[in-house]
Amino acid sequence: MILPIVKYGHPVLRKKGARIETITAEILQLIRDMFETMEANHGVGLAAQQVGHALQLTVIDVTGSTDRPSTLELHGQPTDVSELMPLVLINPEVTPVGELVKGGEGCLSFPELYADIERPGTVDVKALNQTGQLIEFRCGGLLARAVQHETDHLNGLLFIDRMDKQTKLELKAELDALQAETKAELKQEKK
Ligand code: ZN
Repeated sequence: MILPIVKYGHPVLRKKGARIETITAEILQLIRDMFETMEANHGVGLAAQQVGHALQLTVIDVTGSTDRPSTLELHGQPTDVSELMPLVLINPEVTPVGELVKGGEGCLSFPELYADIERPGTVDVKALNQTGQLIEFRCGGLLARAVQHETDHLNGLLFIDRMDKQTKLELKAELDALQAETKAELKQEKK
């Protein structure tokens, strides 16, 4: 099922996700729905918060992004990124290892808004997958950026929090308008 995507201004986007202790049938259904929702919206990643659930759960798939390469190391061996895709991360822990790199980012909760964000170019990732198996890998390029963007969501952080002051100032009017629109919709729903 394609789920509605929560937009900037909705309080759930600022909630830290609860750890998932048991991968229930409901969680597995949510994972399937999140993939369907992400694909329908041509996203590279989607966090549970973006479909209204404050959980430590995100889905990622960078295989469609051939113009922005990714790197992957499994057990210290360079591996084709497609081996790991589509990727489910439950309770992820991300450790930066690389130098800071600037790159373009968008977010399905901020339609039509794009900005350059500085993040570590390489990260080590430790998480559970959908079968409860521990997965560990090192990644770079777009995958490293997606992992960090999505893991931020799980902690209630948004890419606007990582923009430089100038960029955020330039986007202020758009951000304020989106926030106001979301809040008005929420008010409408409560009636
Ligand atoms: Zn996002």
